[in-house]
Amino acid sequence: KLGGRAEEMRLKAYIVGGFVRDLLLGRENEDLDVVIEGDAIEFIKSWEQDGCRVAIHKKFKTGTIVFPDGKKVDVATARREFYEYPVAQPSVSSDSLKHDLYRRDYTVNAMAISINCSTWGTLVDYFGGRQDLKKKLLRVLHNLSFVEDPTRVIRGIRLEQRLEFTIEENTFRLLVNCIKGGLVSLLSGVRLRSELELIFKEDAPYKIVKRCTQIGLWRSLFPGLNPGRDTIKIMRRISFFKRRLSGDLPSMAGADWLPYLSALVSESHRDGMLSVLDRLHVSDKERAIVIESIDGMGSAEHILGGRGEKPNSRIYEFLSKVHPAIALYWAAATNRWRVRRRILLYLTRLRKIEPMLIGRDILDLGYREGPMIGYILKGLRNARLDGLVETREEEIEWVLK
Ligand code: ATP
Repeated sequence: KLGGRAEEMRLKAYIVGGFVRDLLLGRENEDLDVVIEGDAIEFIKSWEQDGCRVAIHKKFKTGTIVFPDGKKVDVATARREFYEYPVAQPSVSSDSLKHDLYRRDYTVNAMAISINCSTWGTLVDYFGGRQDLKKKLLRVLHNLSFVEDPTRVIRGIRLEQRLEFTIEENTFRLLVNCIKGGLVSLLSGVRLRSELELIFKEDAPYKIVKRCTQIGLWRSLFPGLNPGRDTIKIMRRISFFKRRLSGDLPSMAGADWLPYLSALVSESHRDGMLSVLDRLHVSDKERAIVIESIDGMGSAEHILGGRGEKPNSRIYEFLSKVHPAIALYWAAATNRWRVRRRILLYLTRLRKIEPMLIGRDILDLGYREGPMIGYILKGLRNARLDGLVETREEEIEWVLK
């Protein structure tokens, strides 16, 4: 569809970047990036008449088309970027696919596939990406690549670990020099944070964290940070829980990365931990989550531990007061299996339990409006958590008693 429209508008359109790489590797990838030779704005706008939602960034000549079925395509104008000085936001000039591809990070990410009808499916590979893909190599396009944009160092390590590729020898030398020369540590807090979030969205962040330690990235980015074996162990558990319990875990609404961040700082001294949080410009709420994860671990183990039976209502009462990201961190960080089991029970089941009766029903049973209603509902939930009531009738009986 996209190609046909481009053809009608006499534009050349290509799929580029990660999608092409993953297509050739036979890996799934839902993120479609399209580059247009010519002006992408007109192309994007033309989809409005087809019932698509579109968003446009005039300044960058880019935009997004959202199709009625929810599928999303990012569209950009083939462009050439000039970096005025290292670590600056790129300013867009114009022009041609080759330049557009040349400004990309690794050769395997710098290939395009034509989607115009007449040339549909033709691979455009100016820089030997295909060859590198076959050899499983990550290679930068030129020697100044990391100087232009040091986030490529972190992207490179992420890709290396995800795809199980090798960083090509010269590229690796440049990458290490970029770290040693302190260029990566010039990155802004916002960009660092978004790179960290991307690492923590991967299936196995612990591998990336380990590799970053090995090549001295953490030392250079956060001098007080000390991720060691415990960090890795906790991260492996977090990933395991996410994988195994994915459907049952609560949505963390943007806080998904915080259990990993807590793990990352868990072995550092307090000053080290606080300086990481400062450096990343986390919000007050995020900061509180990380600090509570670390500081609250002892009391969580105390309250949730112990051999005897622990009523579910007690587990609920304690854990419902903390953000689920904190509970998930505790589940992963504790070495006490009873504590872990109880937290996971809360996260996957107990937190969803509600009484069948609602406020209205309690009024119908003869109670007057006021704080008492909330109190009764809470009591009912506890009764349900502890298995004292099961049916609606039993709940009514419980209330009347
Ligand atoms: P992922 O699978 O993690 O999404 P991706 O390669 O698709 O990987 P995106 O962040 O979606 O990554 O970026 C899309 C494309 O944009 C990349 O394939 C690459 O060509 C280019 N790109 C992204 N970030 C950079 C960067 N910092 N420097 C140069 N090119 C980049």
